[in-house]
Amino acid sequence: MNDNYDVIVVGAGPAGSTAARFAAAGGASVLMLEKDRDVGYPVRCGEAVSHEGVVQFIQPDDRWIAARCERFRLISPSGHSVIPRLDGLAYVLERRIFDYELAKLAVKEGAEVVTKAYVYDLIKRDGTVEGVRATIKDRKVEIKGKVIIGADGVESRVGKWAGIDTTTQIRDMESCAQFTLGGVKVEEGILEFYFGDNVAPGGYLWVFPKGKDSANVGIGISVELAKQKSAVRYLEEFVERTYPRAAVLTRIAGGVPCAKTCDEVVKNGVMLVGDAAHQVNPVSGGGIISGMIGGMIAGQVAAEAVRSDDLGHLVEYEKRWHKRLGWRHEVFYRIKEAISDFSDETLNTICESGLKLPEEKRTVGGIFRTALWNRPSMLLDVARVFVS
Ligand SMILES: Cc1cc2nc3c(=O)[nH]c(=O)nc-3n(C[C@H](O)[C@H](O)[C@H](O)COP(=O)(O)OP(=O)(O)OC[C@H]3O[C@@H](n4cnc5c(N)ncnc54)[C@H](O)[C@@H]3O)c2cc1C
Repeated sequence: MNDNYDVIVVGAGPAGSTAARFAAAGGASVLMLEKDRDVGYPVRCGEAVSHEGVVQFIQPDDRWIAARCERFRLISPSGHSVIPRLDGLAYVLERRIFDYELAKLAVKEGAEVVTKAYVYDLIKRDGTVEGVRATIKDRKVEIKGKVIIGADGVESRVGKWAGIDTTTQIRDMESCAQFTLGGVKVEEGILEFYFGDNVAPGGYLWVFPKGKDSANVGIGISVELAKQKSAVRYLEEFVERTYPRAAVLTRIAGGVPCAKTCDEVVKNGVMLVGDAAHQVNPVSGGGIISGMIGGMIAGQVAAEAVRSDDLGHLVEYEKRWHKRLGWRHEVFYRIKEAISDFSDETLNTICESGLKLPEEKRTVGGIFRTALWNRPSMLLDVARVFVS
């Protein structure tokens, strides 16, 4: 390891590894620092991604695909379910292998990766960031870098050190919990989503098959509601009811920022990517692919800035991100605001409307449209959100 790089990436999740990969591919010397002993572990994720998202970056490989799903089932509070037509394929990943492969792609492009490397501060001179301070295998080191990419996840500190406001409003923070269950009978090839006040108020509960006899069963609800009853408690109750004989193989809990992208993601030589920049889809809470897209754009722009010796060019990242996905996340955010307080009655109506649709029209959009026409008051609610 040297003491000077063009680009230093903090955090080796999907966003960090993709940033490192594209910065190195653009000709920059790149160092990626990961605080944990292993890239990809521990896993804090439901691990579902779309095929279209993945193939932009890596060819699907059975070593990190635990399940292939061609359908999903929406289960309403009354217990009825609808299976919308899905013209696509989703994967449930083995993220500990997937993340590892993403890091290897960065290494293949020339990036260096160091684990057990905890970044605890930035080196600054006259307001500009010039590197990082880290503890690597119990030794304190200073490493210079022209560009620092903060890919340090939902609890990001790199952004705050650089003076970027990364605060998430409490109503936008989802409290999530998940058990990986063993010894369960789950239908293969289908992702299940449960809705309703008794199961997951203001959010949803998921059952994602993970190979044979195993599933990721998790929940995301707003932090505000979790104060009254925790996400873990809702999940335990669901598992006791639905899979009383299951073995709980892993338990995880974590937050997901279901917000719009931070207003600023570039400052003083620092760029933020992935959860650190709030690049999660505000409706689904999925952040793997969107974080990788953010990482790719940031890596490319960082390499361009280094090549042209112009750090002012880094702001180009904000523009490209907004054009590619940021604007969509703003629309999704408004949709989230509209649907998050749907009553059980409204959710049941949506499900019933979906069931009445002929199969070829039973898409997510089709179900939502029908529900709106059947419930003019709901149409008004949604319209209000879009014109406000
Ligand atoms: C319960 C749950 C379920 C989820 N399910 C899904 C899902 O099904 N599909 C989906 O797309 N998304 C899901 N998400 C969201 C998804 O996990 C994240 O959006 C994604 O992991 C973000 O990637 P990232 O690279 O930005 O951050 P992370 O994957 O969090 O990686 C950040 C890395 O930075 C390292 N790090 C942090 N601080 C430092 C430091 N100071 N120095 C060095 N290293 C540091 C961490 O150790 C970590 O490895 C889920 C999240 C939760 C909590």
